[in-house]
Amino acid sequence: MRATVMYGAGDIRIENVPDPTVIEPSDAVVRVTRACICGSDLWPYKTLEHSETGRVMGHEAIGVVEVVGADVRTLKQGDLVVMPFAFSDGTCMFCRDGLHTACVHGGFFGTGVVDGAQAEAVRVPQADGTLFVLPVGEDDALMPSLLTLSDVMGTGHHAAVAAKVGPGKTVAVVGDGAVGLCGVIAAKRLGAEQIILLGRHADRIALAREFGATDIVSARGNEAVERVRELTDGYGVHSVLECVGLEQSELTSIEIARPGGAVGRVGVPQDETMPASRPAFYNNISVSGGPAPVRAYIDELLPDVLEGRIDPGRVFDRVIGLEEVPEGYRAMNDREAIKVMVKP
Ligand SMILES: [Zn+2]
Repeated sequence: MRATVMYGAGDIRIENVPDPTVIEPSDAVVRVTRACICGSDLWPYKTLEHSETGRVMGHEAIGVVEVVGADVRTLKQGDLVVMPFAFSDGTCMFCRDGLHTACVHGGFFGTGVVDGAQAEAVRVPQADGTLFVLPVGEDDALMPSLLTLSDVMGTGHHAAVAAKVGPGKTVAVVGDGAVGLCGVIAAKRLGAEQIILLGRHADRIALAREFGATDIVSARGNEAVERVRELTDGYGVHSVLECVGLEQSELTSIEIARPGGAVGRVGVPQDETMPASRPAFYNNISVSGGPAPVRAYIDELLPDVLEGRIDPGRVFDRVIGLEEVPEGYRAMNDREAIKVMVKP
């Protein structure tokens, strides 16, 4: 089959690789009907050390179950499924607590351990626990929004949950990528009264406003902090959704939280240490978040997608075939595209 292989920073090739097969009896093989490129794929795109073997990329997909292993009980050939970015058994103590990204039998697609989904097909470990059967057809008009349940919508929602967003709260979303934009949707959905987006790209800001952002701050650093304070009677916000992962965005997130506020982090941190330890301490700010257990959130978010209450699929502004994936990475990295969908 054809698949996206990253050999190092900036070196992405579409190549023939062996077809995925059932290895463990709990596996399924899924034919990919939709995949996409993630903002987090851009970190290895910029920094991955060169290797001879390469890494099959991609962790977000919808597809059709082709083969199931002998132990798979809840799936059958022909099921249309959404694949969260992490696989999980659905039964261990962490999965039962709703933290599927800490599953004792879990792991992440496209990180070199298990091959990714920017490909014609993908092997899915722990298929019963991982895959969620969708009640629609393969070419349903809701496909873009359903695809966001594999990562960005669930991740934006996780940021909002970790940041304790609730009715009447003031919220800031740091970052205007697809996750930040989904964070705006999530904050509005959970009842936030004021939603301030910190972002600088005109197309993304326009979409954020349509999703429910009430204010936009395009400044950075201290100026951004001052601006958010001005918008909140000088206090800062109750809830901050940190959707970037850089030192500056983490620092800003803590500085714009009001005393007793909360920061929900979903941007993959690019540094070992977290800034602003002292302001976080003296202002009693909760800092939470991490890899989103998107599998746990599908039950809650899917009805809102199916019934049209939220439309996170609007973050996709480009659709490409598998052979064009290297160009898709470039377009996202150069901020020409917000998020790129792939139809293998
Ligand atoms: Zn588990």
